[in-house]
Amino acid sequence: MERGNPMLTEIRGLNEECGVFGIWGHTESAQLSYYGLHALQHRGQEGAGIVVTDGARLHPVKGEGLVNDVFNEEKLRAATGHAAIAHVRYPTAGGGGIENVQPLLFRSSTGSLAIAHNGNLVNANHLKQHLERSGSIFNSTSDTEVVIHLIKKSSYSPFREKVKNALSLLKGAFSLMILTKDMMIVARDRNGLRPLALGKLGDAYVAASETCAFDLIGAEYIRDVEPGEILFITNNGIESDTFAEQEKRAMCAMEYVYFARPDSNIDGVNVHMARKRMGKELAREVAGIEADVVTGVPDSSLSSAIGFAEESGIPYELGLIKNRYVGRTFIQPTQELRERGVKMKLSPVVQVVKGKRVIMVDDSIVRGTTSRRIVRMLKEAGAAEVHVMITSPPMTNPCFYGIDTSTPEQLIASSHSVEEIREAIEADTLTFLTVDGMVRATARPFDDAEGGLCMACFTGKYPTEIYPDTVLPHEKDC
Ligand code: AMP
Ligand code: SF4
Repeated sequence: MERGNPMLTEIRGLNEECGVFGIWGHTESAQLSYYGLHALQHRGQEGAGIVVTDGARLHPVKGEGLVNDVFNEEKLRAATGHAAIAHVRYPTAGGGGIENVQPLLFRSSTGSLAIAHNGNLVNANHLKQHLERSGSIFNSTSDTEVVIHLIKKSSYSPFREKVKNALSLLKGAFSLMILTKDMMIVARDRNGLRPLALGKLGDAYVAASETCAFDLIGAEYIRDVEPGEILFITNNGIESDTFAEQEKRAMCAMEYVYFARPDSNIDGVNVHMARKRMGKELAREVAGIEADVVTGVPDSSLSSAIGFAEESGIPYELGLIKNRYVGRTFIQPTQELRERGVKMKLSPVVQVVKGKRVIMVDDSIVRGTTSRRIVRMLKEAGAAEVHVMITSPPMTNPCFYGIDTSTPEQLIASSHSVEEIREAIEADTLTFLTVDGMVRATARPFDDAEGGLCMACFTGKYPTEIYPDTVLPHEKDC
């Protein structure tokens, strides 16, 4: 299924993830959520929303576009309350539209609630069919609606048990927040596929997809939410419980490789440092290559390029510049304009690359189009050789957990050897980081051989069951 405006896709990369933020116990919850979403903007630019509670009712503020486009001082001032949950959303084929911007608000006589999540369930369709047979009607393709129906239909009581019961039925990835007028619930799937951290700001509790949101508002990091854990936060404090036994811990490796912000820490591991070590590992794995300069594709690969340069002794240089102000563009996607789209986004520094043997470090190859364009761009700028170093292994399998890595047929590594990919991207050499190198580089504090990482898109070893009717992330929300 084609997603959104293809030109937009070209300009801004493929679909990205969502980000969640929540705060309980602060009079400026809407304002702080706004800052939190600002820090999480890289996880989704399609829409943003905040739902605040003042103890009596839930008040939503949301819209399409960037955080700065959606909120203003007046709207935030009107959203008074001591707690809020918030969300930034990525573009999906399921369609844009304000009605899909989270948090979703469900009003009912038994109590209203707002819900926001990041991730993709693998058994959503399965559950949906079951719910439909017992009378539920669905408006959208979103996983969120499934969760709401499960909560509402649960025979358990009280409300906390209903939520635990509903979450225990979910398989796949979710970092989720629920807000009622007197409680905030924070939960993470039993494999811990998507990141979710807990912090404190004075007496207030905060939770966010990434710790960079805490830094911006001056909150202190406490810990990551555990896989299978559910937190109930009320005016009486915080209670931790489990809704399911933890299964194989499997934090998404692509968060370290590409998605998360370099100043975030996941499970205590700083993302910039992990990327730097990926660059070093790659330099060790490719030992002996001769080149004059190392350059990284901004922004995600600057850290790893620095690491590569440090390890190899080849000087790091700023060979590519990113134009930060490309923003949205709605030009029709002819081939020529697509090419120009990438040039609008990236430019070579001719003085750095002309006549040089360039090592170009990038984080991943999905369809191969970006790498080919950058190699061409460097060669047009006069590079004598371009050696491409990728800080992740070949991506051979689709992701079912919320990262839109395209359909299997679009993944170049699913049907091409490394040598064929090298040829397709017109590089002089091409090297991918090994799976072992990636595990070593992330240096996560867990004993198992895979460092508690999901690497399914590289290895095909999915940490959960995949159902025949599992829907790929790009076909629905977050
Ligand atoms: P491609 O042109 O399809 O090979 O895209 C590869 C580039 O897209 C990489 O250099 C990454 O920076 C970026 N990327 C990788 N995975 C994703 C993803 N799931 N969503 C958005 N961008 C991505
Ligand atoms: Fe991340 Fe890949 Fe696992 Fe998806 S399959 S969660 S992108 S590591």
